Amino acid sequence: MKILKLSKHWLVLIALVVGVGVGLLIQQTDAQARIPVKMAEVSGTAQVQDTGGVKGVQIGDKVLQLGGKDVGDFTAWESLLAGQSPGGTLNLTLQREGVDDFSVPVKVEMSPDSTRARWIAPFDFIASLFMKLLKMLIVPLILTSIISGVVSVGDPSALGRIGLKTMAYYFMTSLLAIVVGLAVVNVFHPGIGAELNLTSSVGEKDFGHADASDIVLDMVPENIFGSLSSNSTILQVIFFSILFGFFITKLSGPGGGLLKQLFESGFEVMMKMAEFILKFIPIAVVALIARVVGKTGMDVFEDLLVFMGCVALAIAIHFCITLPLILRFVGRINPLSWAKAMWPAIITAFSTSSSSATLPVTMRTVKESGRASDTVSSFSLPLGATVNMDGTALYECMGVIFLAQYYSGVGPNPFELTLGIQTYVVLTALLASVGAAGIPSAGLVMMITILQALKLPTEAAFLLLAVDRPLDMLRTATNVWSDTTCAAVVSRSEGATGLAGALGDERDGEKGGDAPPPGG
Ligand code: ASP
Repeated sequence: MKILKLSKHWLVLIALVVGVGVGLLIQQTDAQARIPVKMAEVSGTAQVQDTGGVKGVQIGDKVLQLGGKDVGDFTAWESLLAGQSPGGTLNLTLQREGVDDFSVPVKVEMSPDSTRARWIAPFDFIASLFMKLLKMLIVPLILTSIISGVVSVGDPSALGRIGLKTMAYYFMTSLLAIVVGLAVVNVFHPGIGAELNLTSSVGEKDFGHADASDIVLDMVPENIFGSLSSNSTILQVIFFSILFGFFITKLSGPGGGLLKQLFESGFEVMMKMAEFILKFIPIAVVALIARVVGKTGMDVFEDLLVFMGCVALAIAIHFCITLPLILRFVGRINPLSWAKAMWPAIITAFSTSSSSATLPVTMRTVKESGRASDTVSSFSLPLGATVNMDGTALYECMGVIFLAQYYSGVGPNPFELTLGIQTYVVLTALLASVGAAGIPSAGLVMMITILQALKLPTEAAFLLLAVDRPLDMLRTATNVWSDTTCAAVVSRSEGATGLAGALGDERDGEKGGDAPPPGG
């Protein structure tokens, strides 16, 4: 059973290839079968089913004269579409008496009793099961992660000047990462016109015209038990958890310690549960990919590759420009020397896709190779592993906007991607990155919550899960890189000398200096 010894990313890569192979095989099972088509609902007057007065339908350069027949019953129509991949969308040009030609999108659907659909069913089942398991984790994971995180930060003995600087640094860098992601996704528009072949349509949306005050109001729960029972009110859960955690630290007597322990243990249990479920990712990836490829072919990957390229670009900008600039000008540290010293942590993050699993290596690397302050590292690194996720924040924002761009161009009820929505996504991406656990694919699980809050179909996130691993490796490496830069910058601001790459304190020698005591 040597295969089990392969590291997770190799397993996921193999799963991806197997999934594609299985999907292509499934596609062959009834490639020539008659594929029923269903008219997309077209708003306004262009209802295709209402064929009165429609003279002909044009697909590519072929024109079908329809006479007065019902389009849906027209067999020539169906045989014309037989070679088309189900799941795809065709633009038909209709000619109607007395009106200019007009186009309508037509969805090519698979017959539920076709051989292909029957082959896809078991993969559909596995993929849906896995997704339900992931969704099951969301509320308890966030609740326990945030409460235990806030309790440890809010602890008066831990919070001092170092605590404040660390929190400010984490907040700022995550926000900068999101801004970079937002800029890239708005410049390249990877989602506009993408052919992702997602079938579910946008739900009733109520953020289209929301202004800032609505967004804030929406974050405050009316009834926390109501909020806890839905994945789409996760911001309310986060809001409540922050307050709850903070006031735990205000308790005097044994109750505070007890609650702290309770939520910390709860978080540990949830992490273990998540790790267990996430062990099945390779199987889920086979199922997800086989399902997509079996249904709609390989076209979807072209657009996903463009999206992945955009994410990689944004991450590269944050990793190679933004954070090094902060290191250089705020921390007065040579970024290259610091990166060289941090390499073991970055590589471990990259290959495990888990900030939490990398934490011991990060601690050792920052303290021993980076020679950062002990006090600062011991406080900021464990906190950063769950709270500071620049790569994740950037990804959440880009992923949601990518899908929103896609949904803004499909269906009878397209999504309106307004400035208000973009602002909302920035805010939620920031909070979601704080709430995400430092384990593989946690960022994607959190993305489901933002999609739900925007009433966008979560099916879309499942498509991203299929290609999540390489992006997860990149964003985890960025998360850990950012944690280490924080330790360096805050150490320097506290007067530590002798850090790897520190500029301007050569005369002090390689002291490996710890900071003067925190809090002044
Ligand atoms: N895997 C990431 C981490 O551990 C979280 C994520 O999925 O974005 O930092």
